[in-house]
Amino acid sequence: MIFLDAAATTPLRREVLDAMWPYLTGDFGNPSSHHTLGESAAHALAGARATAAALLACRPGEVTFTSGGTEADNLAVKGIALARQAADPALNRVVISAVEHPAVEESARYLERFHGFSVDVVPVDGRGQVTPEALLAVLQPETALVSIMYANNEVGTVQPVAELAAAARHLGIPFHTDAVQAAGWLPLDTKALGVDAMSISGHKLGAPKGSGLLFVRGRTRIEPLLHGGGQERGRRSGTENVAAAVGLVTALTLAQARQVEERRRVAALRDTFINEVLTGVPGAVLTGHPVHRLPSVASFCFPGTSGESVLLELERQEVLCSSGSACAAGSDAPSPVLTAMGFKAEVAQTAVRFSFDSAVTAEDLGTAARAVSQAVATVRALGG
Ligand code: PLP
Repeated sequence: MIFLDAAATTPLRREVLDAMWPYLTGDFGNPSSHHTLGESAAHALAGARATAAALLACRPGEVTFTSGGTEADNLAVKGIALARQAADPALNRVVISAVEHPAVEESARYLERFHGFSVDVVPVDGRGQVTPEALLAVLQPETALVSIMYANNEVGTVQPVAELAAAARHLGIPFHTDAVQAAGWLPLDTKALGVDAMSISGHKLGAPKGSGLLFVRGRTRIEPLLHGGGQERGRRSGTENVAAAVGLVTALTLAQARQVEERRRVAALRDTFINEVLTGVPGAVLTGHPVHRLPSVASFCFPGTSGESVLLELERQEVLCSSGSACAAGSDAPSPVLTAMGFKAEVAQTAVRFSFDSAVTAEDLGTAARAVSQAVATVRALGG
């Protein structure tokens, strides 16, 4: 099997499992317990937080460990918007982009349904990018929060986050970014990016599913979603998952160490793959930004097919990929990301995404590119 669905998830890295193992077995204490085992767990958690802070150029107290990207996004969007509304009831609008992951979009819709917010959606251009001008056009005095992702999960387009964050901050509006797909590939320096909140998920990086974190800058007020024992400085009650936190920061450290070199190598492999697919498949269209895209994502539309049929055909040839996001898999609805980018529904339904981790080889991608042209030809011959 050639696994080209790393944007959906990745296997646990051996080094990550080794780092987690003690906290799943002998050193299993609850960090709140006042005995040796508890203190040892608290020490490990503090170490993980300090490492995460160093990687994100922030203070340890600005890192909240969560159960993954979805929880981090929910906590950021609902927590910051609700805290701002509580301080000033006039702050009742949130801004999101038209290509957000459902974890952000549905959090904003929840605020609309139950807390009297209005949601303003910033459009993207044909390559999936939000411009600072487009963002400025929707910001209003009542805007409580802006949430715009760092890199898109379906087409890999990277947003100009630093510029967008600067535009919001200039007006005193907190800016959150969902960096779930960016982590491991793009710089995560929260100071340089100028963001007030940032979500990361472990399982896209070789840490376990159910691990993640939310960075929230210093004085930004945030209402917790989970109430209870007051762990994570009251931001997220519940006994801390020490092993998951240790696994997440181990994976982030490994990814960060390889970033520049690996990014170039994987981006070059991606470009060769894109060229092979575009030349091997008549009518194939690259989706997303041709330059400002994740090194690890190549996404296409293959007009005259259905994306799901191409996937099945590719699986028969032992290539595993996705029709877009794993969350939308199996659904017949065209991708809202592609329709927001201006693709017609019948073209958006032909989308296929290939995403890699850094273990990908030129040989695998060469084999995959040949499989893609065969698969598309087969599906077209069968009438789509
Ligand atoms: N945000 C983006 C951009 C994602 O791609 C994903 C997962 O696919 C998530 C959020 C959700 O993360 P998790 O699976 O850790 O809940």
